[in-house]
Amino acid sequence: VMASMAHLQKEKLRLQEELLELQEKLAAQENNELSLSLQLQGQVETLKAKLLEQAQEISRLRSEQGGTDAEKHRDLLAAENERLRQEMKVCEGELRELQRQQQAPCRDCPHLQENSGLQEQLSQLQREAEEMRAKLVELDLEVQQKTNRLAEVELRLKDSLAERAEEEERLSRRLRDSQETIASLKSQPQQIKYIIKTVEVESAKAKQALCETQSRNQYLQEQVGMQKQVLKEMEQQLQRSQKTEAQLRAQIMMYEAELERAHGQMLEEMQAMEEEKNHAIEEAFSRAQVEMKAVHENLAGVRTNLLTLQPALRTLTHDYNSLKRQVRDFPVLLQETLRSARAEISQAIEDVHSTNRELLRKYRRELQLRKKCHNELVRLKGNIRVFGRVRPITKEDGEGPEAANAVTFDADDDAVLYLLHKGKQVSFELDKVFPPQASQEEVGATVHTAGVRGGGSHLLLTLLCLAQVFQEVQALVTSCIDGYNVCIFAYGQTGAGKTYTMEGTAANPGINQRALQLLFSEVRGKAADWDYAITVSAAEIYNEALRDLLGKEPQEKLEIKLCPDGSGQLYVPGLTEFRVQSVEDINKVFEFGHIKRVTECTNLNEHSSRSHALLIVTVRGLDRSTGLRTTGKLNLVDLAGSERVGRSGAEGSRLREAQHINKSLSALGDVIYALRSRQGHVPFRNSKLTYLLQDSLSGDSKTLMMVQVSPAEKNTSETLCSLKFAERVRSVELGPVSRKAELGSWPSQEHLEVLKTLLGESPGSSAPPGRGHVSPSPGQLSSRSASIRRKLQTSG
Ligand code: ADP
Ligand code: MG
Repeated sequence: VMASMAHLQKEKLRLQEELLELQEKLAAQENNELSLSLQLQGQVETLKAKLLEQAQEISRLRSEQGGTDAEKHRDLLAAENERLRQEMKVCEGELRELQRQQQAPCRDCPHLQENSGLQEQLSQLQREAEEMRAKLVELDLEVQQKTNRLAEVELRLKDSLAERAEEEERLSRRLRDSQETIASLKSQPQQIKYIIKTVEVESAKAKQALCETQSRNQYLQEQVGMQKQVLKEMEQQLQRSQKTEAQLRAQIMMYEAELERAHGQMLEEMQAMEEEKNHAIEEAFSRAQVEMKAVHENLAGVRTNLLTLQPALRTLTHDYNSLKRQVRDFPVLLQETLRSARAEISQAIEDVHSTNRELLRKYRRELQLRKKCHNELVRLKGNIRVFGRVRPITKEDGEGPEAANAVTFDADDDAVLYLLHKGKQVSFELDKVFPPQASQEEVGATVHTAGVRGGGSHLLLTLLCLAQVFQEVQALVTSCIDGYNVCIFAYGQTGAGKTYTMEGTAANPGINQRALQLLFSEVRGKAADWDYAITVSAAEIYNEALRDLLGKEPQEKLEIKLCPDGSGQLYVPGLTEFRVQSVEDINKVFEFGHIKRVTECTNLNEHSSRSHALLIVTVRGLDRSTGLRTTGKLNLVDLAGSERVGRSGAEGSRLREAQHINKSLSALGDVIYALRSRQGHVPFRNSKLTYLLQDSLSGDSKTLMMVQVSPAEKNTSETLCSLKFAERVRSVELGPVSRKAELGSWPSQEHLEVLKTLLGESPGSSAPPGRGHVSPSPGQLSSRSASIRRKLQTSG
């Protein structure tokens, strides 16, 4: 309602404004009208002036009518005519007199001369008269013309007079009309009437002018009428708007009334609500009172309950007091009990301690036994273990049928591998086969895990390690600490993953680094009883030349020589040995060797695929309690690519390289064949490689060959060759393994000590209890020591 009220108020204001506007318009209209009537008055004035002018003109014309120019001219001519006639009459009289005088001749009279003069004068006068006559005729003609013209002018004057009369009549008619109009206009506004009256009293000429202005006045009247009509319309509009205003006012009143009514209603409702509220409050109050009553009742019940609880409380206090007493007594009791318990516990601990000691002793014995058994097992299994590793298909293999996979595995037997060669499936059995998915991490991890567990807990490791191959690798590495010679080869065609397995990458190290890590941790575990020195050498055999990779002069060709001590052992004079104590040291050594190799040759990959790379780790140990010394060698060999090159018709240096590689690898094969067939002569010296590895291949050592193959279809023939070679190697038995252990300090005095030890034992007897076999290193007494050694070997 309020909103509508406000709206209506606004409407009202707007209408009032409109009304004001209209009133202003009306006033302006009235002003207009006034100015118009003034204008009309002015016009009447001017008309009067014109009327006066015309009257003057008429009087002037009337005065002119009497003497026109032509009439005057005619009068003048008539007078002249008269004068000339009289002159002519005078002249004729004179002439007659003269003629008479002539009739009385008188010669030589002076009058004769006078007469002739006068005759001449006469003739002249006659000529003049003639001329005058012509002139007169002319003038007569002119006069005739003038009179004609005059008659014309008179006619015209008559016409114009008639016209004037007509005009006058017309004007008087118009005056009459104007008077009529003025009469009709008498009902008009006062001012105009007044003007009309004044005009009426004006002269008749003014009336004529008024007649002319009447029409104009009429027109103005019409306009005034029109304006009036407009005014009327506006008034009507005003009335209408006043009416609407009244209506709106009524509406506003109505709304106000309604508003009042609504207000009243609201007040009523408010009152009703107030009443309701009061009522509700009263109700709530009464309900609260009822509830209060109930609560009071409850309270009374609780009170009675409380009364009944009091005896219970009494009993509880009683209990509490008794408990308090007990607590007071408790520390004494506790101390007593503790004393007895402590005694019991210490007794028990002592018992456990003794059992523990016993168990530890037994455990150590068991451990030794287990190691012995393990060594025995390794020996029985044969000294050459052969693993196969299949690398994954890589980008370098390309795409299409050439890069298809040709190698499959047996789901149940991890030692079997199938090769699809020329449509036929050939199966191979090795000691263990690694599929491509066997990660480097896995390989290394096992070695590494073994290292972390460390502490010579060989048994535990053997039991815990999952993959057999890693157990083998790890067992081989650790047995090096016990004084065995170990050799791990990577064999296979170029690109089959030899370097990957041996060296690995920086992020994913291979056997080389992990083996050394394992050695370190094992050595650390044994540090309580043993002192160890680990040294490394790195060498390369290229075109049958042995080179030191860590030396100052890498180009220098090294020779393999027999130990001058006559031990039959081989050594390489001038081969650099680095003592390493930590993983950082190894890394430095590897880096050093690698840099050497890189700077030496233009294409490392090519070069490395055509040379054998050897990492020789020597572990020398001394048992501080017993003085037992051990020397173990770990040879880690990355062989040259085994692919057959000759066929492709290589020439020059490439051919020479191939021949050397073929020679050394076939020498390796020959050595293995000889060993397998237990021939008396094993041709170790046929190549630098076999000669250098004699220790690691002969009966004294443990060997692991990792045969690397590519699974790609295009490599199947090389894969076939590699796997065949692997099978051949696997079937070789090297015989029992002997341990290289010496008593006393190396190298001096060793032989005496050895002799002492050996003399204490009967020949052919079984090996002394402890860590494997003791293999003495014979001194200058070479023949004897050799025979002893032989015996020891067979007995082991
Ligand atoms: P080789 O030394 O026998 O010539 P490489 O060790 O150089 O062969 O390996 C050739 C390529 O194959 C390298 O790029 C290497 O990283 C890759 N490779 C080899 N074996 C594996 C493997 N097990 N997993 C992943 N990549 C491998
Ligand atoms: Mg390589």
